[in-house]
Amino acid sequence: MPGQINIQSGTGNRNNERVSFVHTSVLCQTSAFFQTATKQIWRGQTRKPIDLTTENYGIFQQYLQWLYSGRIAIHWCPEPDKNIPNSSYKATHDLLEQYLFGGRMLDPTFQNAVIRAFMDCISNAHTFPTWNKIRDVYKGTMENSPIRKLLLDILASLADKTWSFDNIVEEAGEEFTNDLVATLAVKRQKPGSSCKCKHMNQWACPQTQTRYFCEIPDDKKRGGAPA
Ligand SMILES: [Zn+2]
Repeated sequence: MPGQINIQSGTGNRNNERVSFVHTSVLCQTSAFFQTATKQIWRGQTRKPIDLTTENYGIFQQYLQWLYSGRIAIHWCPEPDKNIPNSSYKATHDLLEQYLFGGRMLDPTFQNAVIRAFMDCISNAHTFPTWNKIRDVYKGTMENSPIRKLLLDILASLADKTWSFDNIVEEAGEEFTNDLVATLAVKRQKPGSSCKCKHMNQWACPQTQTRYFCEIPDDKKRGGAPA
C-alpha cells in the first residue's frame, strides 16, 4: 500500500506475531533505524515486513502512540494486579523499556520525550525502579549514557536508610554498583567536626577514637593498662 509500511512485531513468542500498518512518513520522522529499513524496501532489497519480532508488542504500540500524538503513553494502573503472583506494576519500568526500545530504533527524540516523562514520574513520587530494572538499563546502554547519569543522580539524592541495598550487586550488577559508590563519594554531605575540641573528624578525636577499637574481655585486659 503506498505510503504505508508493514511491521511485524511480537511478544518474543513466534505464535504471537502481529502485523501493524504505519504511515511511512510518520515512521521515518525521527528514527534512523526505520529510515534505513524503509529505504531498503523501496529499493526492492527486501519484500518482507520490517521485522520487530524480538520487540515487545505493547512497547511498540506505545511508540506508535507517541509517533502519532506526540504524547508518551504508559500502561498505568493504580495497584498491582492481585490475580498475578508477584505483580507490582511500575510506571517507571514501562518508561525505561520505552527508552531502551528508542535506543534500538535509533530515535533520540523519542528517548528524550520518555526521559521527560520519567523525570515527571519521579518528581510525582512514583517509586524508583527495582535493581533488576536498573541492570536492564545498564545492559541496554553505553557507558556515557545520560540515563545512567540520571538514575545515579536520583539515587544519590533520594536514597536513605529505608532503602534496601542487601542484594544490590546481584540484582543491579557490578558496573552499576561501582558507579553508585563513585557517585555517592562525590555527592555525599561530608560531616563536619562534631566534638567540642574541634577535631577534624571522629578518628582524630581521642573522645571518639575508642569506638573503633576491638573489644577486649575483662579477664584479658593487660594489668595496669589504661581502659
Ligand atoms: Zn575532639
